[in-house]
Amino acid sequence: MDNTRSHDIAWLPGDGIGPEVTREALRVLDAVASAHGFSVTATEHRIGGAALDETGRPFPTSTREACLESDAVLLGAVGGPKWNDNTGEQRPEHGLLTLRKALGVYANLRPVRVPEARAGASPLRPDRVGGTDILFVRELTGGIYFGTPEGRTDDGARSTMVYSEAEIERIAHVAFQRAQRRDGHVTSVDKANVLEVSELWREVVPRIREEHYPDLELRHLYVDNAAMQVVRDPRQFDVVLTGNLFGDILSDLAAALPGSLGLLPSASVGGAVGLFEPVHGSAPDIAGQDVANPTAAILSAALLLDAVGETAAADAIRHGVDAALDAGFRTADLAASDEETVSTSTLGREVATHAADPAPKNAPTP
Ligand code: NAD
Repeated sequence: MDNTRSHDIAWLPGDGIGPEVTREALRVLDAVASAHGFSVTATEHRIGGAALDETGRPFPTSTREACLESDAVLLGAVGGPKWNDNTGEQRPEHGLLTLRKALGVYANLRPVRVPEARAGASPLRPDRVGGTDILFVRELTGGIYFGTPEGRTDDGARSTMVYSEAEIERIAHVAFQRAQRRDGHVTSVDKANVLEVSELWREVVPRIREEHYPDLELRHLYVDNAAMQVVRDPRQFDVVLTGNLFGDILSDLAAALPGSLGLLPSASVGGAVGLFEPVHGSAPDIAGQDVANPTAAILSAALLLDAVGETAAADAIRHGVDAALDAGFRTADLAASDEETVSTSTLGREVATHAADPAPKNAPTP
């Protein structure tokens, strides 16, 4: 076994439940690292409200430098009532936006899985949603959020959706390469019946497939139909490739499928260093109580390991999460009303045990 591999992680716990859930992610990372013969060194840095309190800025230079020097960034969440009245560059969220920009990450990956055994937690009928396994690939640095001209006009306001061919090409490559490791099927989502920018999207994406990935399947859906299909029959999707605005809306729609925000990880990649964070926010209503679900943070750590090439250990984490949840270790957001609940740290420890040893003997029951 190769004992020389080591990965330096910038750990940005942030605010609210961020520290609690990412601590469990680090626990699980440590456990799989020992089991798979590599080491992980995590160095803690401030971001968001915690950084504002300490330095007066939500993304201090020292944090920026540490992130850019690291192999990957693991983030909790930012924000909370204490800083709600802050405006502009004094908002905790400004720190997160600046971080994403500093890293240059243009591809946002959001896996949404609903295993059969946990389909009962979904707001949709379990027989419709069980077995869902979708990867959303959302373009993150272009589109209508960044297009110009933008702003007020004499009699209204305007925003502009802009994509260059190069921007579409690079995000298409990300989606096809992910599909190669999954079921080989990409659904590209646009609004080509109305928008010129989507017409270009619909020309470029098939060209990239023909030139580089002829073995993969590609189909196109209009975004309105895609939204309906995500709810009607989510199992039909493998990889969903889309732009910034449509991806924002569709991936949040799909985030409802597993039944808790506490289950959804994300990765933002393509730049100098990757950023890995749960989809949820800082959940001030439950912060500091050891009740938050750490699964989203733990699965974000798995995406981090995928990105640094430790794919076997990443799979072990996903296995550990399934094993712990299926064994009945559930935080309050997931438990049925008559089920016993476990704490953040108990679930984290249980996942770590299963992840480090795929078949633990005498596994405890909650
Ligand atoms: P939220 O995601 O923090 O919480 C929404 C609801 O989901 C709450 O009831 C919360 O208790 C629950 N929840 C979230 N994560 C959970 C978990 N891991 N386990 C169990 N329950 C969980 O969204 P919000 O309440 O709209 O925002 C709270 C703060 O977080 C705000 O300051 C907001 O700006 C910030 N925020 C930050 C990010 C980020 O850092 N990426 C994202 C969204 C919101």
